[in-house]
Amino acid sequence: MKLTIVGCSGSFPGPDSPASCYLVEHDGHRLVLDLGSGALGALQRYTDLRSIDAVLLSHLHLDHVADVGSLYVTRKYHPEGPLPALPVIGPRGVAERIVTMYGDSTPAAMSEIFDFREHTAEQQIGPFTVTVMRVRHPVIAYATRVEAGGRSFVFSGDTGPTDALLDITRGADLALFEASFLTEEVAHIVDGAAEIHMTAAQAATQATLAGVDSLVLTHLVPWNSISAIESEARPHFDGSLVIARSGLVIDV
Ligand SMILES: [Zn+2]
Ligand SMILES: [Zn+2]
Repeated sequence: MKLTIVGCSGSFPGPDSPASCYLVEHDGHRLVLDLGSGALGALQRYTDLRSIDAVLLSHLHLDHVADVGSLYVTRKYHPEGPLPALPVIGPRGVAERIVTMYGDSTPAAMSEIFDFREHTAEQQIGPFTVTVMRVRHPVIAYATRVEAGGRSFVFSGDTGPTDALLDITRGADLALFEASFLTEEVAHIVDGAAEIHMTAAQAATQATLAGVDSLVLTHLVPWNSISAIESEARPHFDGSLVIARSGLVIDV
């Protein structure tokens, strides 16, 4: 599988990266994981938007879904005419969320363009076997495991440390885990937010506990330095450690 980091900025887009978005390719098929703020522009550097097989949304926070509304425009008004309904798979309420965000009134308004579906525990999309598991976040949120061609990776979505993340990650070849915070920040974080994201140290520890050899840290909040994120994670993980950046291509 080819995994392209389209957007890795956490919670809001940064100067160098859109918010959450990952392109997964295998055998001529393409999945998009999340389509956060600013991601649709960068995604067009890596694929023709008409060639996407499905969009999977980890959860419905804006930094993970904002550009689904813009994708709707590209499909509905394409010069070749409206494109076939694209599966958009997310948590319960995905249709209402996207329709309201875009500014339409009923899910039926988008039903010819998007085939809204809710996550099921496991589904097959082309060559991809996709499994999801609920993780720890204030809204319904999923970690997503993608397998194809005998290889696999797990995208954590947004989550605090949780056994569910370990369960879905065990045996995977690569972990794409969020690292929103640095430990020194946590004392200043309000509203219990420290419980619903991971520090770089926690993400690295979770990857170690899950037994993966390869870790990519993502959902990086722009005010944290990349070197600080890497230095905090390194003592907690012995395998290959990469800090995500927009445009990075990973051969899973
Ligand atoms: Zn987020
Ligand atoms: Zn979130």
